[in-house]
Amino acid sequence: MTRVLLSGAQVVSLAPNRPDTECTDVLIENGRIAAMGGHLDPTGAEVIDLTDRIVIPGLVNAHLHTWQTALRFAGADWSLLEYLAHTHGHVARIYSQGDMHIGTLAGALNQINCGTTTVGDWCHNCLTPGHADAAIDALTTAGIRAVFLHGAGHGGPAKPHDLREIDRLYDGPIANSALLTLGMAIKGPQLSAPDAVIADLRAAIERGLVASMHQSAGPPGPGWNDVSAAGLWGPHANIVHGTGLTDEWVKRLTDAGVSFTSTPENELGQGHCTAITQQLLRLGAAPSLGTDTETAVSGEVLTAARITLARHRGLAHEQELHRTGLGAPTIALTSKQALSWATVHGARALGLADRVGHLAPGMQADLVVIDGRALNLWPAHDPIGAALQASIANIEAVMIAGHWRKRHHTLVDTDIDEVKDRLQQSGEQFAHKIRATGPVARTRRRVVRMVVRRHLSRQARSGGT
Ligand SMILES: [Zn+2]
Repeated sequence: MTRVLLSGAQVVSLAPNRPDTECTDVLIENGRIAAMGGHLDPTGAEVIDLTDRIVIPGLVNAHLHTWQTALRFAGADWSLLEYLAHTHGHVARIYSQGDMHIGTLAGALNQINCGTTTVGDWCHNCLTPGHADAAIDALTTAGIRAVFLHGAGHGGPAKPHDLREIDRLYDGPIANSALLTLGMAIKGPQLSAPDAVIADLRAAIERGLVASMHQSAGPPGPGWNDVSAAGLWGPHANIVHGTGLTDEWVKRLTDAGVSFTSTPENELGQGHCTAITQQLLRLGAAPSLGTDTETAVSGEVLTAARITLARHRGLAHEQELHRTGLGAPTIALTSKQALSWATVHGARALGLADRVGHLAPGMQADLVVIDGRALNLWPAHDPIGAALQASIANIEAVMIAGHWRKRHHTLVDTDIDEVKDRLQQSGEQFAHKIRATGPVARTRRRVVRMVVRRHLSRQARSGGT
């Protein structure tokens, strides 16, 4: 039996029925939290002194396309349409299995480095079974906990998900993994025909899988009503962005247990329009958070939490200013809420709330050690506020299922230079194609943009539900 005793840290467990912060020992046995409390028996345990550190639950990045990591910041100034044209309309189609592997590996390792222990890996470029296998192998190599959300490329809207592939993965590479679970990255009502989305959601429910779908930058299409009529909304469904849904729709979906994931930085920048978070908060619900695509923004989910908190505090102040002529006298949204979006609610969105997202006996030992001695955090009078404001440089250690994946500010058992070399080789070929300025490249971009615009305007005409 392996036993590790973490002692002396300020622990932010985010568990119900525990203090917000407490100086308590955490005993870990065989990958799980065995006990939390003062003066736990250290017999047979490796005792680690974490004085002046803050321990929080492992972060959950509920929506990320790790396969795009080699395209980092190629789209720092793209709109959503430009992103779709360059990425899905072009380079995604020429991704090899090797490109999928190195993008996923580098993306997953970066997540661990940032304090993420669980990622919802929205892998919507599984062009062949080999592409899916390569991505799964990379997640396993990285040692991260993940829901592998299998998705095909952006094909025709009427086509349902390839269930032979879902069943192959379900019985094969993922069945034997302690850290990976399978989910479905479906096109959803916005991008597929009603019959297709109904078939996809039925398949997910039958298999007990999370089905995640995008919805943004336009009103919802008619398929949403069809799914409601078929009674297929529930906790298995996860909606990413969720922008364009009316308050009535958001209430209907949250009442059914549907989860929402906001990816605030690229939603604001690319033009996904109004974020769902305010609608959820008004209903007493909460978002999970993701960072979506490193073509545009960094992968730090704590940054996503800070942006969301600042944005919605700002909106509240503005509303109060309009109403009374003065700013709000008190702050309604708390740092603890923001941290829970990146932990507790992420775990719920990915169907993993029974094992990760908060720290308590019986839960998986997925946790992050933040170095509270750092110049940018000391003296951390409020451990929750300090944890939320922590940067990558403050993430001292990361444990997943009882294994250290980062220790002493360094990823464990990882040849970073080798990973970077492979990532660069993969990315250069795509960057070259994206930068192309010849007549063929210009025509292709024009056509892809036209197709995307036509699709969105057709949807806008038929939507409005
Ligand atoms: Zn996405």
